[in-house]
Parts: sequence; structure tokens; C-alpha cells
Amino acid sequence: MNATLFAGCKPEVAAGPDGRIIAVGAGARAAAGRRAEVVRLRGEAWPGLVDSHIHLEGLADRRLALDLTAARSLDDALMRIGRWAEDLPADGWVIGSGWDNNAWPDASFPNRRHLDHAAGGRPVYLRRKDGHSAWVSSAALQRSKVSAITHDPPGGVIDRDDDREPTGILRETAMQIVAGKLPQTTDRELDATMARTLSALARMGITGVHSMDSARAFRSLQRLYSKGRLRIRVTYNLPVADLPHAERMGIRSGWGDPWLRMWGVKAFIDGSLGSSTAQMLDGTGAVRMSQAELDDIAVRCARARLNVCWHAIGDGAVRRALDALTPHHDAWRFWRPRIEHAQCVNPKDAKRFARAGVIASMQPIHAVADRELADECWPRVTAHAYAWGMLERAGARLAFGSDAPVETADPLKGIDAAVGWRKRAGWHPELAISKASALRAYTAGAAYAVGMEREAGSLAAGKLCDMTVVDGGRVVATIVGGRVSWRKPA
Ligand SMILES: [Zn+2]
Repeated sequence: MNATLFAGCKPEVAAGPDGRIIAVGAGARAAAGRRAEVVRLRGEAWPGLVDSHIHLEGLADRRLALDLTAARSLDDALMRIGRWAEDLPADGWVIGSGWDNNAWPDASFPNRRHLDHAAGGRPVYLRRKDGHSAWVSSAALQRSKVSAITHDPPGGVIDRDDDREPTGILRETAMQIVAGKLPQTTDRELDATMARTLSALARMGITGVHSMDSARAFRSLQRLYSKGRLRIRVTYNLPVADLPHAERMGIRSGWGDPWLRMWGVKAFIDGSLGSSTAQMLDGTGAVRMSQAELDDIAVRCARARLNVCWHAIGDGAVRRALDALTPHHDAWRFWRPRIEHAQCVNPKDAKRFARAGVIASMQPIHAVADRELADECWPRVTAHAYAWGMLERAGARLAFGSDAPVETADPLKGIDAAVGWRKRAGWHPELAISKASALRAYTAGAAYAVGMEREAGSLAAGKLCDMTVVDGGRVVATIVGGRVSWRKPA
């Protein structure tokens, strides 16, 4: 097997048959040798862009279910639901996601009666855009035995009218009551859509992801891996509900290989801005996990050599995460605790990230979508919301991602949101960072966040040959392991 020379791009790169870089820049041609296979490219070769927070299952399911992200009003959403339902059996489930009442002219939450009419009495389950609430029909509530006498589950709310009847909005853990009743897709259907999802990410220039998914997605990824059908690399983070299994089996962070690896334990400390469930220092919002539970998970993960990825959006939740993680700051060499989102951080806590070795895993594109809502709901704290600039100055390590399907996975849009957008939008421009910093958060920062800094994150001899080639502001090729995973058709 010969080497491969990626020529014509800046810098030129030579890769060995093992998919690792042999040489970069001036020496690449000589190092590749005369027999090398030559791949001609144009543009800048960046280290491969990694999405540090993505939901592959959500992205794949979106291809199997009704997508309401484009619905501009309640009526528009109901029309789309009606059309989708027409093709289903009379008692078939309408399953979908992506609706966002905050983007509609009337921002109040919709109710089940709207759905009963639009979907012809079918059971309906529609996750809100942020995944923190669901809009369900009367038939869905009946099948799930939810009525006026049902109690709210711990950590969740069943919205009710004046007669205590459920309105059709379920928040946080209450969503699970209906979600648990949904018919499952087959393995084959899931694998096919998962493979298409990974290909779509490669087209955006993404060479790897850190997935926040359930075991169902992990099983699908393993099946694709065994068939050599992973187009991009996946580091998998398991839900905290599976922590006891991982502990029992002794699975550690880093298990697997660079194509499919095990990493952290994902847990939710609070909810979201859009669903008014982010836990704030002013006492508002929802607490999905007590401090004692958090402390317990931190101790167990540090002991099991499993990392943590904790979802914390409000400044109160971020502080609690830091409190629980600080005692473990030197747990072991590859202890890389992460706070996911960190959308609002009190300035007093900014320096604590670096001191506790906690990584801020952020999604710049959220700021673009959330800006108006943040101005409305968090008027006093937007000066330190989506505050990558403040955190960088405080010495925190950053890893960037998209949170897709909540937002687009397009990393170029994410880089723009972190760099140029704030000034254009006139929204706390001092919180922007340089393009070099943003690129680092998608490459070296992402690699460090999953203990792969020696394998990936920069173009250097010995590292995996993962590259995103960009020309004229657009991705023209995605190289993973020295192979062309995608390139723009000529
Ligand atoms: Zn997420």
C-alpha cells in the first residue's frame, strides 16, 4: 500500500497507508514518495472539525419523523401535521419534533385540542425544538393513561388547565410518560438513517463528533462500525441511567478505537432557556438533579475512570456543577470533566473552570437562535451569557459543537457565531473570540475534551490524517483517516 499526497491545498499533507500523517507542508511531496496516490485539492487544509456536542439519534430520527423546524406559526405547524397524518393509518402515531412556539406570532404554548383536530384523533407526540417539552394529543395521553388524577413525576411537569386536565404539554421528565409508548423503528431502518446522518455531517466538513445519545444509537453505531460504514469518527457519551452498567463492566473513558470510542457520562442538571427550566442563581428554573446526586455521580465517575459531561445551562446549574467537580480536579491523567452548554456563567465562576480543570463545551450557534429570548428572560445576565470570550480570558479550555438537531450542525455557521456575528448583531461584541480561537475550539479543544490531543486536533506527523478543506468560505473536501470521506463534485 502506498502513501497518499493531498496536493494543491495549503498546507500539502502526506498520509501513510495507516491513515496517519507522515509529513505536512514543504516536505510532504518528498515524504509521500513517487508512488503516492495524489488527491488534488484547492483551498486551506484545516485540522478536521469536530462537533463536540451532537445528538446523532435525534438527527437520524428526524429523517424518520415529522420535522417542524420550518413551521412559522401554529396554523402552519397544524397544516404540516395534517398532511403528514394523512399518510398514516387511522390509529398510527404522528411522531415529530422541532416546533418552537417562541418563533410564532403568538408565542403561547399550543394544546392537545389543536392536535386532536389536525391529526384526525391520532396519537401525536411532538418534541419541542429544545427537547425539553413535548406537545401531545388527547389520544396520546389516553394511551399513556395520563389524566387529571395523574401526579407530576419527579423532575417533570404535566401542564394543566383550570380543571386539572392535562393541556397536552409535558415538560422535562414528564415527556417520558408518553415517549415510552412510542413504536420503535427497526434496527435496519435506524442503521440506514444513521449512516445517512453521518454522511450528511461529512458533507458539512465534520470529521468527528462527540455524541450524546442513548444505547440504541450506540448499538447502531457498533453495527455500522463492524461493517466499515462509519464515515466520521464518533466518541460516545452514555446517559447517566447507564452508569451502573458501565461501572459493573469496568468500561473506562477511551475504550474502543479512534473510530468509535467510549467517553463520558451525560447527566442533566437543569433544563433550558426556551422551556424556562434553566436553573438560575436568582432561584428560578428547574433542578433536575440534587447536589447530593451530583456529588455521588462525580465520586463514582472519578473512581470508575469515566469522564463526565454535565448539561448545565443556567448560572445556578453551572455553579453547582463546578461545586461538585472541584474536589476531583486531579482525579487522574485523562480526567476531562465537561460542562455542556454553560450558557450563563456568573463572572465569579469563570476562573473556577480552569482551576477545577473543567472544560466549557459550548455551542456558539445557540446565541444566534436564543438572542431575543435571552434578552427577554435573562435581561440582567446577557453580559455573561454565551460568554466564550469571558471564559477564554479566564483561562477555561473551550470545546465547540452544535447541539444538533436543536440547531444546525454546520460548523462554519458555528465559527461565524463565535467570531463575527456578535459585532454584526450588536450583542455584547466583547464576548466574541478570534477566528483562530474558534477553530481551536473545534479542533485541538475538541480533541483535548475527549483525551485525544496526542491523536488529533492539529496537522502534525504521527497524528490521524483528519482534515477539513475550505475554499472561498465553503467546505470542498472532508478527509478522515487519510481517505476522502466527502468532496464537492467537480
Ligand atoms: Zn444537547
